[in-house]
Amino acid sequence: MERVIIIGSGPAGLTAAVYAARANLEPLVLAGGLYGGQLMLTTDVENYPGFAEGIMGPDLMIRFREQAERFGARIQNVDVTSIDFANRPLSVRTADSRHEAETVIVATGASARWLGIPGEERLRGRGVSSCATCDGAFFRDKRIFVAGGGDSAAEEALFLTRFGRSVTIVHRRDRLRASKIMAARVLSHEKIRVLWNSVIEEVLGITHVTELRIKNVANGKVADVEADALFVAIGHTPNTAVFSGQLDLDERGYVASPDGTSTNIEGVFVAGDVNDFRYRQAVTAAGAGCRAAMDAEKYLEALEFKVDSLARL
Ligand code: NAP
Repeated sequence: MERVIIIGSGPAGLTAAVYAARANLEPLVLAGGLYGGQLMLTTDVENYPGFAEGIMGPDLMIRFREQAERFGARIQNVDVTSIDFANRPLSVRTADSRHEAETVIVATGASARWLGIPGEERLRGRGVSSCATCDGAFFRDKRIFVAGGGDSAAEEALFLTRFGRSVTIVHRRDRLRASKIMAARVLSHEKIRVLWNSVIEEVLGITHVTELRIKNVANGKVADVEADALFVAIGHTPNTAVFSGQLDLDERGYVASPDGTSTNIEGVFVAGDVNDFRYRQAVTAAGAGCRAAMDAEKYLEALEFKVDSLARL
């Protein structure tokens, strides 16, 4: 029986692992087949405190992992296939094993949605990004494009005006989905223009983005437009499929938590982007992982106290 199982290995999961390991809970981290979370898809990270010169996303995650392992966290690069939180002990299955635990920390993150067009994946980190806060500063005085028409696209576009020479939103319809206030800010900004009724069909470039193939769906015209960066902001999907029906989710599909760490199941805690649709930063996820591990430890202490008291009766 494990004291703590942590599902997920982004900044939230691995920070929870550092804290749980330093509390002698010997956490088992089910890290996912592709460990490390969204930072593994990023190049330079310049906003993680403590790295004045910046650090590559994957290098940062290797350091998180080594730090957790140094204190005794056991990390397995496996995907969780199913869970049973309705019975005690809590149980978690992977393809070839079943683990039981007193507490579980869910830190499975969220995945950016991508357009799924040619060139997008190949040029990710070379002009294609899903995070303006992470990558916007690399495109000073450049021609920046943003795909999407919701609040995320509006927010990303407004943020990117600090860097870009121009910011062009490419939206598939003739009106924004974004809230009125965000839409008004976007539409009145001198650096932002919107290509309405337009979809990006291909990202072009050899070593980095140089052009976007854009189709006007109203008149069918296709044009290759010079571009230096494409920020895809068509929403995120929280990685909660495996928990549905057992953990309460909010209306957007994120794990619901009244206080930011606890869930509807006693002993199951949540941390990071799987619960946070608002901030979505490595540093906020790491903070959430710390809180979840401390709460799991407190929960285990209370459980032991209860067992000891019953034994004395
Ligand atoms: P969203 O509201 O679902 O908007 C997604 C946008 O991407 C829509 O405009 C959609 O087009 C477009 N889109 C989706 N799939 C696409 C595809 N395959 N190709 C091209 N375009 C595509 O997502 P979001 O903007 O991430 O916002 C999610 C939630 O977070 C919303 O409730 C939003 O209000 C909230 N949020 C709030 C703030 C804020 O208040 N500051 C900031 C960010 C997010 P259609 O319009 O045609 O569907």
